[in-house]
Amino acid sequence: MSKFIVGLTGGIGSGKTTVANIFAELGIQLVDADIIAREVVEVGSEGLNKITAHFGKSILNKDQSLNRSKLREIIFSQPDKREWLNNLMHPMIRSEIHKRLNSATSPYAILVAPLLFENGLDRLVNLTLLVDISPEQQLDRTIIRDEVSSEQIKNIIDSQVPRAERLSKADDVIDNHGKISALKGKVISLHNNYLKLANNA
Ligand code: ADP
Repeated sequence: MSKFIVGLTGGIGSGKTTVANIFAELGIQLVDADIIAREVVEVGSEGLNKITAHFGKSILNKDQSLNRSKLREIIFSQPDKREWLNNLMHPMIRSEIHKRLNSATSPYAILVAPLLFENGLDRLVNLTLLVDISPEQQLDRTIIRDEVSSEQIKNIIDSQVPRAERLSKADDVIDNHGKISALKGKVISLHNNYLKLANNA
């Protein structure tokens, strides 16, 4: 029997992590695409060895970990290098996500991915759930959470799929403009529906 998978997404500061944690409290296992993307290039990984062989040892920090800002700089200015990196990373990330989702033991599992649509990860899931807020609120909440400038947050928001496109692609939407305390009820009602769908899958 193949597992029923929900893909949870939303722009920066929308409330994905907050929502994901409520599902986790309900006993649903989470697979986080961002965490996996970091793990496949951690020190000693096959991914990092391949990157070092391609870009040279100067791509490493003193402690032998990947110098991400340097790599970002290179791929920003050189599209062929970006393509090489994407061709290496995407299949590795995808196969690790697949493996972990399949080994989940909860009635269904959730893939948490900020770039679910951008990176085509929606193809790995049965149903997509979007946490939606306005760009103004994304900015306000992210500034409270992180010590970053509004300029940096605006750049991240602009680099992500526009809100209207996300809304048109998602199967289910959680409106998170209201109070944080309103989320739990919304998540429980979706959860009950997902349990039914997973049972019939
Ligand atoms: P994401 O994972 O999508 O970046 P988070 O779940 O970390 O977003 O939420 C961003 C910030 O906003 C966090 O500090 C979180 O506690 C807060 N937050 C989430 N939902 C609400 C809400 N409805 N009202 C106020 N703050 C919220």
